[in-house]
Amino acid sequence: MDGDRFDLAVVGAGLNGSLLALAAAQAGLDTALIDRQALGALTNAGFDGRTTAIAYTSQRLFAALGVWAELEAKAEPILDIRISDAGHDGKPSPLFLHFDHREAVAAGETAAPMGWIVENRFLRAALLRRLADCRQVELVAPDEVLETRRDDHRAELALKSGRRIGARLVASAEGRFGAMREEAGIGARAWSYEQIAIVLVACHERPHHGVAQEKFLPGGPFAILPMRDGEAGEHRSSIVWTERADLAPRLLALDAPRFQAEFARRFGDHLGRVAPVGPRWWYPLGLVHADRYVETRLVLVGDAAHGIHPIAGQGYNLGVRDIAALVEVLIDGKRLGLDIGASDTLERYAQWRRADNLAMVAATDLLNRLFSNDIKPIRLARDLGLAAVNRVPPLRRFFVRHAMGLVGDLPKLIRGERP
Ligand SMILES: Cc1cc2nc3c(=O)[nH]c(=O)nc-3n(C[C@H](O)[C@H](O)[C@H](O)COP(=O)(O)OP(=O)(O)OC[C@H]3O[C@@H](n4cnc5c(N)ncnc54)[C@H](O)[C@@H]3O)c2cc1C
Repeated sequence: MDGDRFDLAVVGAGLNGSLLALAAAQAGLDTALIDRQALGALTNAGFDGRTTAIAYTSQRLFAALGVWAELEAKAEPILDIRISDAGHDGKPSPLFLHFDHREAVAAGETAAPMGWIVENRFLRAALLRRLADCRQVELVAPDEVLETRRDDHRAELALKSGRRIGARLVASAEGRFGAMREEAGIGARAWSYEQIAIVLVACHERPHHGVAQEKFLPGGPFAILPMRDGEAGEHRSSIVWTERADLAPRLLALDAPRFQAEFARRFGDHLGRVAPVGPRWWYPLGLVHADRYVETRLVLVGDAAHGIHPIAGQGYNLGVRDIAALVEVLIDGKRLGLDIGASDTLERYAQWRRADNLAMVAATDLLNRLFSNDIKPIRLARDLGLAAVNRVPPLRRFFVRHAMGLVGDLPKLIRGERP
C-alpha cells in the first residue's frame, strides 16, 4: 500500500476523538487524527454554547494526561445535586432527592466534587493544545474519510484530499451520525425521543453554591448546571432545557420578553432574579447504541458507539471510559508484541465496555420515559420514589458513586494512572 502508516487512525476530532488520539499518542502509539472540520473552528468562542459535566473519574484521566492543569481554573465543581419533580407551573414538588458529594467518601478518602462543569470550547482547546505538543500524533484536518478498506492485515483510508492513510487499527469517533459503523455492517438500536434540548446560559442574582439542579417538567428534564462566575462577577448557570419537539420551535421563536417569562417560570426563584444571556442553541435528542463495538480492524468509541439522552450528563463520560479501556488493551497488546488491531485485542475492549454502556443507555432511557410526562399516578409514584431514596443514605451513596464513575472495573487512566 502507498501512503502513510500509523498504529492508529482516529476518525473524528470531537471531544472523544481528540481525547483518544492524545491518550494513545502519549502511550506510545503513532496516531493520525482526522476531521472534516478545520480544528481551529472547533475552538471558536461560543462554538456551540455547550458545557459538559465531567465526572470525578473523568477528571482523574484528564489530570493523568496533563489536560486538567489548563482546565482547572475554568471548571466549576459540582458539590450537590438536587432532583425534583415539577408540574406545568414549574413549581418543584416538596418531595425531592438531594445528593451531597461528602456522602461518597470511603474510609481513608477525602471528599471530592462529584464532577465539574466545563465549557466545551475550553475542553476542546485544552485537548488540541496538548495534541499540538505531542509528536506522536499527526493532525489531519480539514480532510475527510471517503473510503475505508480493512482486512486481516491492515486498514487503509482514502481521504478527500487524495491522501491515503494506512493503519493497524481505525477508530471511528465520528459521533452518532458517523458512516463507518453502517459501512461495516454494524447495526444499532436507535430512536428519536421527539424532544429537543434548548441550551443557553443564564445569569442569576444569587450564587449557586455548586448545586446542580434537575427539575423534571412535563416536557422533559430542565437542568440548571453551576458555571464559573462570569468576567464581571455575574453568577451563571448552564441550562439544558428539554422540551417536546413540537413545542420547542415555538418557544425558540418567542421574542425576548416572552421567552424570558417562559424561562423564568421553569427556572424558579430560588436564585433570585434570573435571565437568559447570549444566544440559544438547540439539539434534537435521540438514542443510538451499536450492536457491536468492533469489526475487523475497526473500533467504535464515544457517540459513534452510544449516543444517549443528556438527562444524566453522562454521554461523554461513557466515551472517556471507552477511551481509557481501549488505550489500556492496545498498550497491553503492544507490550506483549501482539498486533494491536487483532480481533482478540479488540474483543477485550468490547467486553470491558459493553455492560457499563448498556446500563447507562437503559437507565437514561427509562428515567426520561418515567419523568417526561404529567400522568398523575406516575407522578405520585416517582415523587414517592425520589423521597424514599432520599431517606436511605446507603442508596444515596450508591447513586453518588455511580455518578462519579467510581463503580465497576476501572481502567488505569480512570484511576488516574498511566496505562
Ligand atoms: C444538550 C447536550 C448536553 C450534554 N451534556 C453532557 C454532559 O453534561 N456530560 C456528558 O458526559 N455528556 C454530555 N452530552 C454528550 C456529549 O456532548 C457527547 O457524548 C459528545 O460531545 C460526543 O462527542 P464525539 O466526539 O463522540 O462526537 P461529535 O462531537 O459528534 O464529533 C464527531 C466528529 O467527527 C467528525 N467526523 C465525522 N465523520 C467524519 C469523517 N468521515 N471524516 C472526518 N471527520 C468526520 C465530525 O466533523 C466531528 O468533529 C451532552 C449532549 C447534548 C446533546
